[in-house]
Amino acid sequence: LEEQIRRADRLKMIGEVAAGTAHEIRNPLTAIKGFIQLLHKSLTDRKMNRELDYIGIVMSELERVTSLVSEFLLLSKPKEVALVPVHLGELFREMLPMLRNEATMHGILLRYEPRADLPPVFADKELLKQVFLNLGKNAIEAMEQRGTLTIRERRGFGAGPEVLVDVCDTGPGIPQESLERVFDPFFTTKEQGTGLGLSICQRIMHELGGSIGVTSGNGGTVFTVAIPAAGKRGEGIAEDGGALSPDDV
Ligand code: ADP
Ligand code: MG
Repeated sequence: LEEQIRRADRLKMIGEVAAGTAHEIRNPLTAIKGFIQLLHKSLTDRKMNRELDYIGIVMSELERVTSLVSEFLLLSKPKEVALVPVHLGELFREMLPMLRNEATMHGILLRYEPRADLPPVFADKELLKQVFLNLGKNAIEAMEQRGTLTIRERRGFGAGPEVLVDVCDTGPGIPQESLERVFDPFFTTKEQGTGLGLSICQRIMHELGGSIGVTSGNGGTVFTVAIPAAGKRGEGIAEDGGALSPDDV
């Protein structure tokens, strides 16, 4: 528990720092990008190939910094979350093509096992998509050119009824000593990693009143996301006490 509080404090501090400086970092970055693009064009016109190579490196490094800043922004004070009933089937229909594309490019099979009998969840669809995108990307990166990524829905019961989504891979698994640290901000084993993906997932799930956990072994890794189910009274579906049914949304 102490560890969890320490982690929450650390996340909060990082969030505050990020919120305070993100704009200051972003604005000059945008200006730099603009002028680099102008430079790129003028070098192209003059066929200055060596300089174009240098500029190419600058542009790709700039891209890295930009995406790091964006991840910082996500970790910082999150936007207002709008909790509404969300149908997971619809959510996955919208986001799986992108993930499938990524999987195919890496020689990985993507399997989705929907469950028609589960209730909608009570969540913010865009934030939830981001969680599954991060988990899916990690799974694909872990498997390196072969394997299966399975997304499975099931019923759960935590503080109340919930829906569980397992994101399973057939990768090498996570060593025991790393398993406790994967949610730590900046923990990464990748050369190009930021180590922020899972902290963002954890933060989002906390916002949504759900949770995220992990189990791992030789056969692969399973991240399980628990999301509160919608449709019960008292879950704020409608201010007047839940007269709205999920189908109305
Ligand atoms: P990043 O992907 O930038 O490294 P994350 O927070 O997304 O940051 O992940 C942190 C670390 O957790 C990864 O570097 C990796 O070591 C480990 N990890 C996450 N997902 C998996 C997975 N599916 N299989 C094996 N290791 C994983
Ligand atoms: Mg990641």
